[in-house]
Amino acid sequence: MPDFALNQDTELLRLIATDDPQEAEALFAAARQQREIYYGQQVYFRGLVEFTNYCKNDCYYCGIRCSNNQVKRYRLSLEQILESCRVGDMLGFKTFVLQGGEDPWFTDQRIIEMVEAIRKEYPDHAITLSIGERNRESYEAFFQAGANRYLLRHETANEAHYQKMHPASMSLTERKQCLYTLKDIGYQVGAGFMVGTPFQTPENLLEDLRFLQTLEPHMVGIGPFIPQADTPFGDYPGGTLELTLKMIALTRLLLPKALIPATTALGTISPLGREKGLMAGANVVMPNLSPKEVRKLYALYDNKICTGDEAAECRFCMEGRIRNFGFVPNMSRGDVAGWDRSA
Ligand code: SAH
Repeated sequence: MPDFALNQDTELLRLIATDDPQEAEALFAAARQQREIYYGQQVYFRGLVEFTNYCKNDCYYCGIRCSNNQVKRYRLSLEQILESCRVGDMLGFKTFVLQGGEDPWFTDQRIIEMVEAIRKEYPDHAITLSIGERNRESYEAFFQAGANRYLLRHETANEAHYQKMHPASMSLTERKQCLYTLKDIGYQVGAGFMVGTPFQTPENLLEDLRFLQTLEPHMVGIGPFIPQADTPFGDYPGGTLELTLKMIALTRLLLPKALIPATTALGTISPLGREKGLMAGANVVMPNLSPKEVRKLYALYDNKICTGDEAAECRFCMEGRIRNFGFVPNMSRGDVAGWDRSA
């Protein structure tokens, strides 16, 4: 097993830039070995509920940005959200991920109501929020209401690059601060970035990895950028499978305990993308629990997979795919290794 000198920026940059398939394969093998230390062959399931596609932000890459007037907007009712969780629970899910655009209709009070209602029905499930940037008081209130985890990708750790991807009203400093705040409150926190966004350089990706090492998040979401036709980045090329897999592997090597999803975006750019993600060190999948009618409307990017499937189909399809590659589906809460729930 080759040893990679990942503490050296030059070596990391070389690995990010290499197009030697043998070297990439060696990286994946090392990442798999590292993943096995804490998680064996287990792959953790999370049920994803995309509960609103309204968003007040205007990120240049994202299909549900507020300026995109081609989007049919939807917002699930509390009852619809609970129903999605019930379907998930019947299918065995012990983690619900509630994701949405930054929708002002969902005030702190409404988010608290949602979290409390889910918590009341499912005292032992993990509740993960992914609803963007709010202030410390809001994050604390959601945590008090029963939320355990929070996903907030930093998107890119480089200030200049961040500014090329977002309007001036958004700030990388604030986004990073949110991540530190969430960790401080006691959430299991997920950061992450897209691979192959317009203007991204290998140095930017190096910065992403170094930022992750500093933050030490419990989860890291990494997926290829995929153009969405009605956005300012609609004509740019998307991120590649190869580079995304390498970034997953490098993240695994630098953060051995991290929970790393094989993302839907990865499965969208390649038929076996998610399986290859697992082979490169990922250990989480997030099948969709959103009602079938709204799946297509949560279109962050074009050609998203599984938008026509029922939750049960996604659940069992993923299970089969995982087994085919020698992994073991795991429906438990799947907290990060070493997490003390009583603390
Ligand atoms: N509003 C929440 C959820 C955002 S959507 C938040 O701010 O965190 C979840 C993730 O989808 C984003 O963090 C981004 O990394 C990813 N995403 C958005 N547009 C994308 C695109 N065109 N291609 C690939 N991933 C995209």
